Amino acid sequence: MNDLRELYEEVILDHNRNPRNYPKKPQGCNHSAHGFNPLCGDEFHVHLKVADDVIEDVGFEGAGCAISTASASLMTEALKGKSVHYAEKMFNEVHNLLTEEKQVGDPAELLGKLTVLTGVKDYPMRVKCATLAWHTMHAALREQEGMVCTE
Ligand code: ZN
Repeated sequence: MNDLRELYEEVILDHNRNPRNYPKKPQGCNHSAHGFNPLCGDEFHVHLKVADDVIEDVGFEGAGCAISTASASLMTEALKGKSVHYAEKMFNEVHNLLTEEKQVGDPAELLGKLTVLTGVKDYPMRVKCATLAWHTMHAALREQEGMVCTE
């Protein structure tokens, strides 16, 4: 487990220091949502450009702690070029990964590098930091109005 922990810290630090697709609002962006985690003060806007059911481009803006920023950054990398259906599937998998006690199947199959996010399970207060960008993306795809709040 130490290896996973080291990998987790390395990936989180790297993505926090150099967030990918940030700050960015893609040209032609047609889905946006605003997410807020009052427990920590993390606040992001997630922007997606969707065409023919494919996420052609994605970016985020705002500010948050290391875990929320890294999770958002990892998410934008993972979503680019994927179908909306696939993005929703990833949203569910990440949610299960971070909130369920037991895993069904192998999350690495779908999530790959994103499984490093399981590291936050050691810090229950941070789970909402890690899921914020994902909830915001989910709302953006469903074109929900207003702000997504983790509370
Ligand atoms: Zn946070």
